[in-house]
Amino acid sequence: MKLDVDALRYLSKDDFRVLTTVEMGMRNHEIVPAELVERIAGLRHGGTSKVLRNLLKHKLVHHDSSKYDGFRLTYLGYDFLAIKTLVNRGVFAAVGRQIGVGKESDIFEVATEDGTVLAMKLHRLGRVSFRAVKSKRDYLVHRRNYNWLYLSRLAALKEYAFMKALGEHGFPVPAAVDCNRHCVVMSLVKGYPLVQIKQLQNPDEVFETIIGLVVRLAEHGLMHCDFNEFNLMIDDDEKVTMIDFPQMVSVSHRNAKMYFDRDVECIFKFFSKRFNISYQEDRDEEDGVEYDSEENGLAASGFTKRDQDEIEKFIEGGPEPKDGSSSDDESSGKEQTADVDNETVTTKMVALQLADQQVKSSYCNDEDRVEENLDSCNVKVVRENEPTASGEQEDSNDLDNSDDDDDGSGDAELVKRLNKQRKRAVAAARGRRALASRNSYKDKGGKSSHNSKIQKQVSKW
Ligand code: ADP
Ligand code: MG
Repeated sequence: MKLDVDALRYLSKDDFRVLTTVEMGMRNHEIVPAELVERIAGLRHGGTSKVLRNLLKHKLVHHDSSKYDGFRLTYLGYDFLAIKTLVNRGVFAAVGRQIGVGKESDIFEVATEDGTVLAMKLHRLGRVSFRAVKSKRDYLVHRRNYNWLYLSRLAALKEYAFMKALGEHGFPVPAAVDCNRHCVVMSLVKGYPLVQIKQLQNPDEVFETIIGLVVRLAEHGLMHCDFNEFNLMIDDDEKVTMIDFPQMVSVSHRNAKMYFDRDVECIFKFFSKRFNISYQEDRDEEDGVEYDSEENGLAASGFTKRDQDEIEKFIEGGPEPKDGSSSDDESSGKEQTADVDNETVTTKMVALQLADQQVKSSYCNDEDRVEENLDSCNVKVVRENEPTASGEQEDSNDLDNSDDDDDGSGDAELVKRLNKQRKRAVAAARGRRALASRNSYKDKGGKSSHNSKIQKQVSKW
């Protein structure tokens, strides 16, 4: 997917305000009613429609009028929000070329103010595996709206938490730098995915290191679950770095043994095929692995058991079971990687002087600061669209878990406005009016239709 960050520089404060509004609306609406966007954004003199047109032009939102007039964020819109937040936090200052396309992510080089090049992974859950999995999972059939925005964010949070914890335990993983929404920033691995390596000086050593990694992971109570030549990077000194963690599970997972075997098998198969070496697989050694059954390491990094349970519903033990051929068939296009030439590419980077960056928004207040403190992936996860027992949205779970936007650009104020709308809606729902027809959002009626329109949405709130 093309990530043209050029447009980002020209977006105004109002553009981001409306974009943020659509994001907030998506916690409870697959398509956010245009009217709701207008009310919450609260720009004067029809300003919101003008801004929405601009956002549409840049493909940051998508217009949908199939049920009613409304908008949803596109991945690009979500990218922009995350990038803006990270730029405002000072995590990086420029976005460069794409260096990887994973099954469910796009990876770009980014550069910090001082020219250090990092890697930015934008999770794109829903691109491949989730769609495939979705059709097979019963509970998703009953779940009316799944929310890719939430799922990609959860995947990023998980990846960041695991990367941090693994790094702290001395595993060779990229250094976890920061995370916002569906975006994880990490150190750039100066190497190539094993799948691209045609020759090794010491294949035996590399093989042993890699097998040693799976075993050590198990000793720490973890299974990688997608441990293969696409997710192992090798540098010029044949040093191994392990990447890609959203599908990791604990050894207490019911399929842990199967995942462990599969991870090990992938490596055996690859090494025997690529380097023409046949290894005697020593099952006894594997059986001798002492599993640490604690969910250790991760609690400290903020990724809870509940998060794990939630994400496992969508990515269970590796995006999709291997069909046996994927591992040794690199032409399958399973993952593609741009050639990494390891040069500093800062010059090719698009510097991101955001139009509104200097204006530390006038909405910045204490509440923003509270949000900032609560912010970061380490603290909590928004559980948008989680169905309650009745299959409806929990009334109270959304707003206080505001998205982790910490740049002080008016989110707190938007949250208040959204809250107000929600209260009005709840009040209206308790009122006497009958619900309006499904098409009520097409109704451009006056005040009398106003409550009924809101009522229509109450069930989702
Ligand atoms: P996915 O979860 O979609 O499979 P990955 O994390 O495996 O995504 O990344 C896809 C590709 O991007 C990798 O195969 C690798 O080539 C590249 N990549 C990912 N992370 C880094 C990094 N930190 N440094 C350099 N390249 C990376
Ligand atoms: Mg991968």
